[in-house]
Amino acid sequence: MTADCTYCGSDVNDHDPVFVAERRGDGRESAGRFCNYACLSAHIDEANLVDGACCTVDL
Ligand SMILES: [Zn+2]
Repeated sequence: MTADCTYCGSDVNDHDPVFVAERRGDGRESAGRFCNYACLSAHIDEANLVDGACCTVDL
């Protein structure tokens, strides 16, 4: 299994990795791995993953 960062392609094991999973039915499926929260945040921004996604937090 590859350990390349979903965002930048670096080996996440060289950094402080963060792993993301999404629910799929009763299980969960890997949705990406990132060097750190900076890569995760950049990936979210680039892929517009928060567009239309919101819980009930009042900002
Ligand atoms: Zn990265």
